[in-house]
Amino acid sequence: MGKPFNVLIAMTCADDAATIAQVLQFGCPLYFERVERMDAFERALSGSRWNLVVCDAAGFDIERALALSPSPIVFIAGDDDADSILSALKAGARHVVLRSRITDLADIARNPYSNESAFFEKLHQAVEQTAVCDGNAETAFAIPAWTESARQSVDEQFHVSFDFVPVGMAHISLEGTWLRSNPKLCEIMGYGESELHGIAFHVCTHPDDLPRMLELQTSLLVGKIPSFSMEQRLKRSDNQTIWARLTVSIMRDDRNCPCHLIAAVEDITHLKKIEEQFHFLANHDTLTKLPNRKSLLDQLGHQLTHAESAGRKLAILFLDLDRFKLINDSLGHANGDRLMGLCGQHIAACLDAGDFAARLGSDEFAIVCSDAESMGAISAYSERVLRAISTPVQIEEMGISITGCIGISVYPDDGDDISTLLRKADSAMYRAKDAGGNHFRFYTSDMDVSAIDHLLLENDLRRAILCDEFVLHYQPQVDLDTGKMIAMEALLRWNHPIRGIIAPSEFIMLAEETGLIVQIGEWVLKTACMQAKSWQNMGMEQLRIAVNLSPRQFHKQDLVQVVMEALESSALAPEFLELEITESAIMHKVEESILTLQHLKKMGVKISIDDFGTGYSSLSYLKEFPIDKIKIDQSFVENITSSPDNAALANGIIALAHSIKLSVTAEGVENRGQLNFLSLSQCDSIQGFYFCTPLPAESLQKFIEQGKSLDTGRKRIEQEKPLDMGRRRPETSKLH
Ligand code: C2E
Ligand code: MG
Ligand code: MG
Repeated sequence: MGKPFNVLIAMTCADDAATIAQVLQFGCPLYFERVERMDAFERALSGSRWNLVVCDAAGFDIERALALSPSPIVFIAGDDDADSILSALKAGARHVVLRSRITDLADIARNPYSNESAFFEKLHQAVEQTAVCDGNAETAFAIPAWTESARQSVDEQFHVSFDFVPVGMAHISLEGTWLRSNPKLCEIMGYGESELHGIAFHVCTHPDDLPRMLELQTSLLVGKIPSFSMEQRLKRSDNQTIWARLTVSIMRDDRNCPCHLIAAVEDITHLKKIEEQFHFLANHDTLTKLPNRKSLLDQLGHQLTHAESAGRKLAILFLDLDRFKLINDSLGHANGDRLMGLCGQHIAACLDAGDFAARLGSDEFAIVCSDAESMGAISAYSERVLRAISTPVQIEEMGISITGCIGISVYPDDGDDISTLLRKADSAMYRAKDAGGNHFRFYTSDMDVSAIDHLLLENDLRRAILCDEFVLHYQPQVDLDTGKMIAMEALLRWNHPIRGIIAPSEFIMLAEETGLIVQIGEWVLKTACMQAKSWQNMGMEQLRIAVNLSPRQFHKQDLVQVVMEALESSALAPEFLELEITESAIMHKVEESILTLQHLKKMGVKISIDDFGTGYSSLSYLKEFPIDKIKIDQSFVENITSSPDNAALANGIIALAHSIKLSVTAEGVENRGQLNFLSLSQCDSIQGFYFCTPLPAESLQKFIEQGKSLDTGRKRIEQEKPLDMGRRRPETSKLH
């Protein structure tokens, strides 16, 4: 009898472990040990030498097991568990066997020489050789027969595992040609398997994405990075372009030398389409189809940079229509909307190449004019715009003509930043109105009083901090399954001694610019946490508090410390604090943002993305950040029942957010129609005037005592849902 063949089985399921033990009974003395948990697995791996380790790919840390084990490991994975199969292969596992094959193994065990599985035939051969290789069992797996058989089985593993994966998978040679591909990849690329092989991967890559792809591939090959993931365009066999998320890592051979690349390719074209539409809506005004205020700010930023480097002037024309309210009141809103749409078209038709027009809201437009070298040229441009918008339009058999007033500011004469230029053009527009309708005026310094206003406000803010003039109002968030309040958002108000309650829109920007927001923000955080704890003590034990973080606060070095102190001083458990951050805040200094978010997550604090739909609105990008929730912006919710585009996109965004385990709150819900829509769309929770406006803490007390709830129309779940943001990310790390 040879030395016993030692098998370590890491399996949470006792039945699977027993089947494996049974499978491997084939005549030589066998010693089995089973572990159920990772800590025991680690001890067993470091304590003894095993001839073979069989490990459940789903229940254990694959990378750690591969790092610790000097013995060969066979991973067992569920047939539909693509995540585990891919994780194992990406971590460098040599052998992955589908769970359905375990029963095949029982047959093999009964009759080892008539089995259909080439891989297990090789396993048996190796085991037999080990058994006769007395006294040298530990090294038996290094004998050529084993290495050779393992190598031969690569093809088979590929088919067994990759054929079932719902993601395109391929091996790519180090020179960059397709070597092997699974059926899903062929479907994505539109090629048959044999057609694809030998084609250079670069040929299928969109030329614009090629430099970045090559840069990452080089970093991978020289060992600078262990893997990379990027979104890129691929050309299909029918010349169609698709968007794909590509994740590439290196496969190494027995001697740890790179042998080929392994790529996971996910078709994200549908996601990109939704995002593009979402972007369009986020950046354009639905009525006129012109860019909106946000786009104007982005575009103006670019144009100012160009103008500066080219040493050129730029003019900003601020247009406000005359007496448009009268048109709405007399002709009705539908006609008013039509007229506004046509007005947008007339403005767009006036633009010179390289110029830009946007609707800023209500009846205000802005035009950025790049030919601003002479006042004469700008004046002629303004007259042209005024003439164009006054083109008579037939409405209800009447020829209606509208007029407007334009205020003009010029870069760099009147200022060199966006807000100054817009403010000055706005002041000039009011002066044009003073002169009666249908006029334009250039800005002059006597129009400027707001610089002084600005200074006064800043002093006032400093005094407000010293005199404790800030207060918090709170607005409930309601769960759409239970109809119950699950969280309160803390909203800042300035209780001014003369002006009364002032909304944050009037002072937050200035507080941010001057840095005063940091001090104010700390106070908000502490006060809100204390209030939440006191509501919890009143019986709302699971109530969360949502606190807005300004970009400057979010990027401050000591944020984590400040949050920790607020939690400690209020004795509020971290999972009840939800921090609201805007997309633009986290997209600024991405690496730093991810680190901060990871710190906060580690503490147990929840993170939501505020005002989703007004920024980058890229869920596929946000998926890379450790966040829990998105809050769909109220400007988007506002049109949900009137605009089919918005409705379809809201549905898409909610579904996509759920698919990446994010929960969704809709902001600014003002009526039953919006509530019903969101309820049907499986939105998780809502916030808005329909349920409750923001109120001081004392006023909300009654709400809480009465246990006020909302009839959401959705089937009620009798027992209250756990208040853990609804959906969590899985514990295991994600593949892409
Ligand atoms: P936000 O975080 O998106 O807050 C929601 C805003 O929507 C609040 O405006 C709220 O009063 C308003 N709102 C809620 N329901 C409805 C509705 O049904 N219809 C409409 N039309 N509006 C609704 P508020 O309180 O004026 O705050 C405006 C913004 O100021 C906040 O937007 C947030 O970005 C900022 N803010 C408020 N408090 C703080 C704070 O403590 N720190 C920082 N950094 N920013 C704050
Ligand atoms: Mg907020
Ligand atoms: Mg918001």
